[in-house]
Amino acid sequence: MMTSRFAPSPTGLLHLGHAYSAILAHDMARRAGGRFLLRIEDLDQGRARGEYVEAIFEDLTWLGLTWDEAPLRQSRRGEVYRDALDRLIALDAAYPCFCTRRDIAQAADAPQGPDGPLYPGTCRLLPPAVRRARMATDAHAWRLDMDAAARLAGPLTFEDHGRSIAVDPLLNGDVVIARKDAGSSYHLAATIDDAACGVTDVVRGTDLLASTHVHRVLQALLGLDAPRYHHHGLVAGDDGERLAKRNGARPLAALRDDGVTAADIRARFALSS
Ligand code: GLU
Repeated sequence: MMTSRFAPSPTGLLHLGHAYSAILAHDMARRAGGRFLLRIEDLDQGRARGEYVEAIFEDLTWLGLTWDEAPLRQSRRGEVYRDALDRLIALDAAYPCFCTRRDIAQAADAPQGPDGPLYPGTCRLLPPAVRRARMATDAHAWRLDMDAAARLAGPLTFEDHGRSIAVDPLLNGDVVIARKDAGSSYHLAATIDDAACGVTDVVRGTDLLASTHVHRVLQALLGLDAPRYHHHGLVAGDDGERLAKRNGARPLAALRDDGVTAADIRARFALSS
């Protein structure tokens, strides 16, 4: 059955950009007589807060959106992600990374990626004995060895708005698939959860288009079905830039307090109810 989803991170209040994404995903499912799911991406336990989860439910309900099934909470799915990580390690497609943020920032001549400098590969090159010794003592994340992963996966494409896009596995470099503090990462958890919930259509902003190249590689390695993607344009703030707190993104809750209605929000995006 056609299934779409909205997958916010409860690290702040939702704003118009989130509303746009949620309404598009919801309406696509409802028009098709399909399912619309809600997933709470609360892997970052340092930043995720229960009150923001409650606010997500409240804001979506105010927008007139309904979701099917109890929302999935990523913070409760550690074992599922661990199994997938173990499979990637067994494929020799992942390696432990001991670098701190500072190590990475200081690495000379790291090429620039879509979301900042690419990881320079420091820990991929560690001699096995050093790696083994450090694993016993040092905190580590896990990174996808993209060269190895791309070789294993072979050439791939994904569908965005019905068009086939060739995957560029090296676009994002060796991304983190398990954070030091979380045992997983956005890339791994989102990919697994979309497949586990039978999501057929992923609706999300173009800011995540580069991530889709990673997700497609992970799907291939883990034997998961690839959904169709629909990356949408980002809602602009007062300055024409992507909406964010600094350029006037007011929380939906504040707009609601001002008397704005869900119909006003739909009208702003020229979306019928
Ligand atoms: N949790 C992500 C975010 O809030 C979205 C993930 C996704 O749609 O794949 O940006």
